[in-house]
Amino acid sequence: MRKIAVVGAGQAGLLAAHALHARDYEVTLYSDKTPEDFLERSRPTGVAARFDMALEFERELGLEHWGDRAPRGDGVHLTFCPKEGNQLVTLLGRLSRSRFFLAIDLRMQSATWMDELVKRGGNVEIESVSVERLDEIAAHHDLTLVAAGRGEIMKLFPRDETLSVYRKPQRFLAMVCVTGVPMQLPYAPWFLPVKFNFFAPYGEAFWVPWYSKDHQPSWGMLWEAKAGGPLDRFRDCKSAQQVLDTGRQVNRELVPWDDELFAHATPCDENSWLVGQLTPEVRQVVGTLPSGRQVMALGDTAQSLDPIGGMGANNGNKMVRTVVDSIVGHGERPLDANWMRQTQARFWQRHHWIDDFNNLLLEPITPAGRDLLIAQYGSTARAEDDSPQQKLADEFIENFNDPMQLTPAFQNRRRAHDEIKRAFGTRSALPPLAAGATRVAAGQLRQRLGRGGLVGMPPS
Ligand SMILES: Cc1cc2nc3c(=O)[nH]c(=O)nc-3n(C[C@H](O)[C@H](O)[C@H](O)COP(=O)(O)OP(=O)(O)OC[C@H]3O[C@@H](n4cnc5c(N)ncnc54)[C@H](O)[C@@H]3O)c2cc1C
Repeated sequence: MRKIAVVGAGQAGLLAAHALHARDYEVTLYSDKTPEDFLERSRPTGVAARFDMALEFERELGLEHWGDRAPRGDGVHLTFCPKEGNQLVTLLGRLSRSRFFLAIDLRMQSATWMDELVKRGGNVEIESVSVERLDEIAAHHDLTLVAAGRGEIMKLFPRDETLSVYRKPQRFLAMVCVTGVPMQLPYAPWFLPVKFNFFAPYGEAFWVPWYSKDHQPSWGMLWEAKAGGPLDRFRDCKSAQQVLDTGRQVNRELVPWDDELFAHATPCDENSWLVGQLTPEVRQVVGTLPSGRQVMALGDTAQSLDPIGGMGANNGNKMVRTVVDSIVGHGERPLDANWMRQTQARFWQRHHWIDDFNNLLLEPITPAGRDLLIAQYGSTARAEDDSPQQKLADEFIENFNDPMQLTPAFQNRRRAHDEIKRAFGTRSALPPLAAGATRVAAGQLRQRLGRGGLVGMPPS
């Protein structure tokens, strides 16, 4: 039986350990935290909302335990503001009927999945693995996977200059997960979306339906600040309550339509928060140890994505699936550096769209993206809405499940126009664009006259 070591008990490491154990490999998982540490003394690594393709893998492994209790997100409600106080466009997209996204408290998930790995016959060792120790571990295993997030050990894996776009963090991030909040938007109560507020010059504020380790339906609140702007106020926050207080102050000024929703919010627990920043980048998956032995990066250790697109955990699941399939497919042959690079290349070829889409969201909107937003304006996400606008808006949220679907249309105006023509059944994209622009102009006029907000928004 081939022996595989996995370092790190987060989303990627535990999923890999379970998947390999299920395929009859002898798996040992090394974690610097016990299940109790995760539950009582840890911060969640992120909100980690996962869509169908990622969840499907967890379901296949019998690991998706919370979908019948957790809030089921079924769409997106996006408000795009080119400048402060001006809502230009909304997009209300919904996932196809049987699909939903789930954001499960990663601490509860890691604690549960660790216990289950032991019950299923896997080995779990509690230790913080140093580079020297990693060398010993690698000596005794056919393959060592390092899924240690962005911990120190990540430095073993050099930055991939050809695939990395950024050299520094693009946003300062603040997250707090809160309860005591209605699980619907007052101005669009017919669905449970992730709420995106885009402020082109300043950053983003978004809310994700979340299920806490104490089984509270909750919201993960995230602010993504561009340096020096009015969202950039979280750097000195030292507690969940401070993030919440600062965030509510920001909301009163920039997102007044969502202020009331969080009037009675309280942090889910004292650890349910984060502040900080990360550089979005791709790393080489082969790490070389002092002895010359080689280990492979997985999950966030292999690739850091800004949370703006909610992609990191989804990306990790897809990466784990590719790596596990590649291990199985390689039979008894050596799982060496060549195999690691080829496996990564296969993953990248199919899934580079994740990185592309996520990075698009960090940048000013493309002309193609602007056309898509204008053409879909008027989408409502109501069950009975089968308009062309709705079709386009739905494609936007489906793209979070598999960014291969719509990302090319965001990158290329001709492709954007093809999508618009397909949705509207027209030979040219110009009539739907002209009609959309007229609706946008009417919305602007209504706002100026104080006669109401945009589609799916409260009166301004
Ligand atoms: C604010 C925020 C919001 C996010 N929202 C989303 C979202 O909505 N959707 C989405 O898909 N992604 C989201 N993400 C990203 C997602 O949370 C991460 O990509 C994912 O959790 C990473 O999982 P991982 O297993 O690779 O790493 P981690 O979760 O970091 O797990 C690594 C584990 O390894 C352990 N470890 C580290 N060093 C060692 C060592 N030397 N020895 C032993 N153990 C070690 C750590 O303690 C940790 O338990 C978000 C991220 C942030 C910051």
